[in-house]
Amino acid sequence: MTETQHSIVWGNCLQIVKDNIHPQSFRTWFEPIKAVKLLGNVLTIAVPSHFFREFLEEHYIDLISKALKRELGKDAKLEYNVKVVSNEAAVQIPQQSSAEIKNKSIPFPNQAGLIANPFVIPGLQQLHIDPQLNPNYSFTNFIEGECNRLARSAGLTISANPGKSAFNPLFLYGGSGLGKTHLAQAIGISIKEQFPDKIVLYVSANRFQTQFMDAVNVKNKLTDFLHFYQMIDVLIIDDVHEFAGKSGTQNAFFHIFSHLHNLGKQLILTSDKAPVDLQDLEPRMLSRFKWGLSAELVPPDYQTRVAILKAKSYNDGITLPDDVVSYIASRVNTNIREIEGTLISLLAQSTLNNKTITLELAEALTEKLVSKNKSEISVGKIQKTVCEYFKISPDLFLSSSRKRELVQARQIAMFLSRNLTNSSLASIGSQTGGRDHATVLHAYNTVCDLIDTDRSFRKYVVDIEKQLKSF
Ligand code: ADP
Ligand code: MG
Repeated sequence: MTETQHSIVWGNCLQIVKDNIHPQSFRTWFEPIKAVKLLGNVLTIAVPSHFFREFLEEHYIDLISKALKRELGKDAKLEYNVKVVSNEAAVQIPQQSSAEIKNKSIPFPNQAGLIANPFVIPGLQQLHIDPQLNPNYSFTNFIEGECNRLARSAGLTISANPGKSAFNPLFLYGGSGLGKTHLAQAIGISIKEQFPDKIVLYVSANRFQTQFMDAVNVKNKLTDFLHFYQMIDVLIIDDVHEFAGKSGTQNAFFHIFSHLHNLGKQLILTSDKAPVDLQDLEPRMLSRFKWGLSAELVPPDYQTRVAILKAKSYNDGITLPDDVVSYIASRVNTNIREIEGTLISLLAQSTLNNKTITLELAEALTEKLVSKNKSEISVGKIQKTVCEYFKISPDLFLSSSRKRELVQARQIAMFLSRNLTNSSLASIGSQTGGRDHATVLHAYNTVCDLIDTDRSFRKYVVDIEKQLKSF
């Protein structure tokens, strides 16, 4: 056979493959391949990494084999050359018996440098990746309430049908301590229970960013990084608001997201803000976040707080007196993490001092914790402080008057609200006389500019912030 024949045969195969898969998948998985030689009915192709070969075998081998048989007859065979380090050095993969490699597990890439290439273990038929899930964050331990009903039920739908429901991506958002991480992990755990072969991975946005930065400067590592993420069936990324301002990471994530979404893989994202309020992320990414379902987690109502307290104390092996439960539930109403914190302090106090848990003990302790909460800064409190500082009446502050001093006071209040509270732009706007999120964003940017350029203006902002924090 002549030199060019392998290229012709492979070229014909590619035509068939191209007609049968998504263009993006074709670009990712077939364009990097080169035909190397054709000996009889054996075609050899060069692929960039071991993992790449695994991926082809797992996902496209039927298609490749059909195409090849059409070209070379029913005894057609395919062999791989894997270029491990660079384009020059093509090496043959050592054959490994499948018994040796079954059930080996891949540690999730931890610290860079631990293994030469933490993403790729050569020769594995099936990859086992530690999904990084905490078994305590299960659906069983997740108390249902009005505050999480939509998000939870979407989560259950996804668990039964990963990638196949309309909820892709599932975008969970809400303030801190309201159960985003717990719910996202519960979905992962449930999918793993129902579909043990699916590759599920939980990763925080920060960790993803670190891995990306580690990979970006090393030859071939970036490709491995991308390939690693592109083979996940269920990808959970926690706290995507952390991607703000990190354009390289956003870009990598965008490609992984698109690739997985195209292949019908499930994506679950969490964030402290709704997509519309994530102004610091690229628009193309925000628009993708809105493709599926956005579900908000809000602070739990009284009934749910009671249910959570009962469940948590039950898990800790104690029964709280009813008056203690209702007392804590009515006093600690910000978020679930705080409820847990109060419960833990209570248990600690009672065991350390050998006291039984009584209403008095709960009261003494909760007052301490809640009085700290009292100093928590709200949009309303910021507005009140700003009004007092500039000696403006709250009515005028919330009115539609465009008087300069009023506009400035509102802008400062909106700026501080964005910086000091968890409220979304939309929510700050609606609390500022029914303005929209774009107005808040504009105010925020204006104040940022003025702080840099106008000394006396900066002093106002600093003074007010100091006052707020001293309460
Ligand atoms: P977020 O990620 O939104 O900041 P987490 O998921 O970390 O919040 O939740 C904070 C704590 O509250 C966790 O310990 C979690 O187990 C608990 N929690 C949150 N929501 C629930 C719930 N619905 N039922 C039981 N525990 C919950
Ligand atoms: Mg979280």
